[in-house]
Amino acid sequence: MGKIFITGIGPGSREHMSIRACEVIENSDIIVGYTTYIKILEKSFKLKDVFVSGMRKETDRCREALNLALSGKTVALVSSGDSGIYGMAGLMLQIVEENGSDIEVEVIPGITSSSASAALLGAPIMHDYASISLSDLLTEHDLINRRIEAAASADFVICIYNPKSRTRVAGLAEARDIILKHRSGSTPVGIVKDAMRDGESAVITDLDNMLNHEIDMTTTIIVGNSETFVSRGKMITPRGYGL
Ligand code: SAH
Repeated sequence: MGKIFITGIGPGSREHMSIRACEVIENSDIIVGYTTYIKILEKSFKLKDVFVSGMRKETDRCREALNLALSGKTVALVSSGDSGIYGMAGLMLQIVEENGSDIEVEVIPGITSSSASAALLGAPIMHDYASISLSDLLTEHDLINRRIEAAASADFVICIYNPKSRTRVAGLAEARDIILKHRSGSTPVGIVKDAMRDGESAVITDLDNMLNHEIDMTTTIIVGNSETFVSRGKMITPRGYGL
């Protein structure tokens, strides 16, 4: 029997992947993934074989990975960032479960967008934070807003994934309005696009001005808590060391 490695490839470049993830990508019989990520991997690795599919084909990709593994292949199913954070890990494990298969599965962690983005901004998630995806494809719009409200009212730093797409633009403005009920307009906000990839940019702005910046589906936004400040171009959330 084969094996499935559910592998996070980090934000993009090879130097930001774990050694285990690199080994798995080099040695697996086939890499299964979304077109964009396969293209990113091809820049740094010579891939033996690939199964590529487009967006919203996640279930097909996982079923293909399982079939390939059942036919005896070692398969690396890749996600950007960490595969267990809005990635493929949960779905793949559910499909293995549904199939009643005893195929071996290993989940390999990767650097998630919030930590890659935080590193570029300084140290904005030094204290408790909430990670919220604004994508309403798989999550009810109301639930997203309730979670934004809860995180904002409890003074969590908020990392926003999937902030805005070509067809979904209103959610981000709504989220900002909810946060503004609990935080001042001068609260620092970091906007990171394409972290550790070609075209990377990191901007520090504030809640009042965040919507004036370019934000798309390869952007992560980090909204500071009531104590976050900016010093020498770095966003810092203090943690009570008493300096
Ligand atoms: N599993 C991924 C998240 C997938 S959801 C992870 O752990 O990072 C997709 C969202 O991740 C994007 O909409 C964007 O918010 C964020 N993202 C992915 N790659 C990014 C990058 N290189 N820079 C900034 N944000 C990124």
